[in-house]
Amino acid sequence: MQDTSGAQPIQTDALVIGAGPAGLFQVFQLGLQGIRCHVVDALPHVGGQCAQLYGDKPIYDIPGIPVCTGHELVQLLQRQVAPMDAQLHLSQQVAQLQRMDDGRWLAQTSQGLELHARSVFIAAGVGAFVPKALKVPGVERLAAGQLHYHPADLDMVRGRTAIVHGGDEEAVAAAIACADRAQTTCLLYRRDAFQASAPLLERLQELRDSGAIRVVIGQITQLHADSGLLRAVQWMDGEGQEHELAAQQLVVCLGISPRLGPVAEWGLAMERKQLLVNPATQATDAPGIYAIGDIVSYPGKHKLILCGFHEATMAAFAAAEYLQGEKPLLQYTTTSARLHAILGVSHPDA
Ligand SMILES: Cc1cc2nc3c(=O)[nH]c(=O)nc-3n(C[C@H](O)[C@H](O)[C@H](O)COP(=O)(O)OP(=O)(O)OC[C@H]3O[C@@H](n4cnc5c(N)ncnc54)[C@H](O)[C@@H]3O)c2cc1C
Repeated sequence: MQDTSGAQPIQTDALVIGAGPAGLFQVFQLGLQGIRCHVVDALPHVGGQCAQLYGDKPIYDIPGIPVCTGHELVQLLQRQVAPMDAQLHLSQQVAQLQRMDDGRWLAQTSQGLELHARSVFIAAGVGAFVPKALKVPGVERLAAGQLHYHPADLDMVRGRTAIVHGGDEEAVAAAIACADRAQTTCLLYRRDAFQASAPLLERLQELRDSGAIRVVIGQITQLHADSGLLRAVQWMDGEGQEHELAAQQLVVCLGISPRLGPVAEWGLAMERKQLLVNPATQATDAPGIYAIGDIVSYPGKHKLILCGFHEATMAAFAAAEYLQGEKPLLQYTTTSARLHAILGVSHPDA
């Protein structure tokens, strides 16, 4: 799959919201029906819960794979969907979904991307994985480009005074990366106990010892800005004393957690924060919108990857009929020359 940021609005037959295991397999099943799609995910990578919550842990109940880790399953799915050539839009949340006059759906993302889709597949799982926000007075007055949540790149701190806020692997890695670039680097966290791999902790200690990273133990209480430009971070120590630290760039790594967010505002029938679907088609109560995976509810639903795969298959067959006007024929990947062409494989008996 490719990561694109092409011209807007994008016209597409199918939009998949969520690139967890269910969304990825949806891409594959739509591809087998000859339907190409665009995929949007709030995370900077694909894989949903498997990648974000248990990448290195084993899964034992995927048919035909006795054991694989979350990351390995995601890699296998990526390999499987590669021939479908879906366009991937990462690090953005689908914020709005509205019906257009011609019956298509207008989706708008948090990054301003607009898509006009004939069909939509909501594979939003337990919600969009978004960074935990820093909630302190003054945060709303900062101009863009000074507060960064879990940034992939730290070039913006070059030559500036930087504070990294957080205590996990990402916070420690960000502080180490800042130490190479920033004028000064401070790692600010509520405890002097960081959760990171041994090599990262060792490197942090070296940089602390050399003075390249200053570690401050406390809580941020306020941000100070002049004309919108961050000047200092106010923090409180264990004794309740307030202090100030000069800062031009603030990097916040407080973790990433799922939020149902906008899905609940799209006017679709829901029950206990889950979308109600017809399990024969995975159709919601809106024409052309299907939902699969952990986000859905129907009698007998189980929140398992295997169930998401089945639902993606049901949704693809139903959507093919909706988009192409006739019931699709059942074809086997083993024997169908049409499917071999889609998959880009040659078969001796074809
Ligand atoms: C610790 C743990 C272990 C597990 N082990 C197993 C197991 O062994 N076997 C098994 O079958 N299941 C297991 N599960 C459950 C399994 O992970 C889920 O059933 C599966 O991930 C659901 O897939 P999904 O694609 O529906 O949703 P998710 O994996 O949650 O992916 C949804 C994606 O949608 C994105 N998203 C949501 N809303 C938006 C939006 N508005 N805009 C853009 N993107 C959005 C999210 O960022 C996310 O990446 C486990 C779960 C956990 C937490």
